[in-house]
Amino acid sequence: MKNFLSLCIAAVICCGFLTSCTKKNGDDNANAKPFRMITEATFPPYEFLRGQEIVGIDVEISKAIAEKLGRPFKAETVDFDSVIPAVISGKADIGAAGITVTEDRKKNVDFSIPYVTTGIVIVYKKDAPFTKGEDCKGKKVAVQGGTTSDTYVVEQLGQEPDRYRSPAEAVAALQAGRCDLVIADIDPAKNCVKGVENLALSDFITSESYAVAIKKGQPELLKLIDETIAELQANGKLAQWVADYTAEADALKD
Ligand code: GLN
Repeated sequence: MKNFLSLCIAAVICCGFLTSCTKKNGDDNANAKPFRMITEATFPPYEFLRGQEIVGIDVEISKAIAEKLGRPFKAETVDFDSVIPAVISGKADIGAAGITVTEDRKKNVDFSIPYVTTGIVIVYKKDAPFTKGEDCKGKKVAVQGGTTSDTYVVEQLGQEPDRYRSPAEAVAALQAGRCDLVIADIDPAKNCVKGVENLALSDFITSESYAVAIKKGQPELLKLIDETIAELQANGKLAQWVADYTAEADALKD
């Protein structure tokens, strides 16, 4: 009987121990919840596909943030106009997709400090050049849907663009004669015209800054992200990624 009693006590202690272990593991799992980046992988060199893998400058920035948080990293690609909604709904922890900071978007998400100053340009056929924004008025303009190029056509030119899912698809439409010109962010635009004899780019027609977006009301996460970006700028890593991923994305065209 005495032995049985000791056995019972041992079992109870053991059970308690196991329960606390399970709980601890549960907590660990909560910490190990992946940090989910949402992006749109048709935007080299910021994000593009290397085979099945999503790679690029924005992916590296987001990975560095996940590392700071001690969380594993996961990236998913969707159409550009679904990136910010995924951040708002909490489906993703961070939106990083060469996202331009705009007053309109600021109403829905919080932005980090900017990590690049850039803008949009006109992609045109050399035998039918368009070098200024005004030149595009009344022309058939192709853009990637939901982008600042799209807004530019609607708000500055007062017309509707033809909307495509990527800058490359819009440029393909130009080559096929389905539009007169394309408006797109300079880096993917450069990538599209690389090695293509008959196309050229205008100067910037806007000035924009890219930042990463998170769901509103997370000041601590925002601070950590800002610190990470500042660090990556100061230690030269960001500049290195810009150089490396530009070269890799350009090489994909060769
Ligand atoms: N910078 C542009 C915007 O924010 C385009 C971004 C993109 O297509 N990935 O609208």
